[in-house]
Amino acid sequence: MASKRWLAAALVAAVLATSCSDAGNSPPASASPRIYVFENGTISGLDPALFNFKREELKQLDFVNSAYLIVHPRGTLMFDSGAVPDSHFKGDGTPVVEGVVTATKPVLPQLKAAGYEPRDITYFALSHYHSDHTGNANEFANATWIVQKAERDYMFGESPQGIIQPATYDALRNAKTKILDNEDFDVFGDGSVVIMSTPGHTPGHQVVAVKLKNRGTVVLAGDLYHYPEERTTGRVPTFEFAPEQSTVSRARIEKYVKDNGAELWIEHDAATHAALPKSPAYVD
Ligand SMILES: [Zn+2]
Repeated sequence: MASKRWLAAALVAAVLATSCSDAGNSPPASASPRIYVFENGTISGLDPALFNFKREELKQLDFVNSAYLIVHPRGTLMFDSGAVPDSHFKGDGTPVVEGVVTATKPVLPQLKAAGYEPRDITYFALSHYHSDHTGNANEFANATWIVQKAERDYMFGESPQGIIQPATYDALRNAKTKILDNEDFDVFGDGSVVIMSTPGHTPGHQVVAVKLKNRGTVVLAGDLYHYPEERTTGRVPTFEFAPEQSTVSRARIEKYVKDNGAELWIEHDAATHAALPKSPAYVD
């Protein structure tokens, strides 16, 4: 009897020890939303005419490539995944140059620095399917993929054309998927992280609005704009999927920004990116 009781106590202790060590290894919890910014490199040598600009009209011609992790008390959302898959890095610290893209930093080590592995991620969303955003999308196929129906249909349609690399996101085909039909989605159910449908640049482009306790509301704008000068001139790139939709989507987000006193972070804008802390630091 006594030995049985001892055995039971030992088992309980062992279970507790296991769950405690699990807790020690699990990702850091966050009492209110945070945004971690990951850097992936640059795009240089772009022709400003592609964006309906002359060189002298743009302050900064080169793009940065980035990705974001949003941490919420109820889970995590990875938004975009860089331009170049981490597997393309040689591991010797040298940048990866692929055409106009130069990748200086793999994404997953920055995710790890924030305390997370891809398997920890609850939700994954792309602003859109262009290859400078889908680099590491396959890594997040265990998360629930949040995607607009029109975007997914294009991505998995027959021979999709344009700036697209299906091999980088193919694993999403069988991911658990939350399909939106040109609609917004309150990711964690409390209004603090909302995917907003902004078609135009691609059929199902989307942005994320995040309500932060200290910083206020931030809109991760994806490629709603590429250059800040697009906001002031109303010009859209030459390669929009549906330019008239882009204009409508921009007007909607500009109204949201104004009504909420929000910041709008243009994903490719070097000045916006330079001013933000990088993982493991975060904005909250
Ligand atoms: Zn882009």
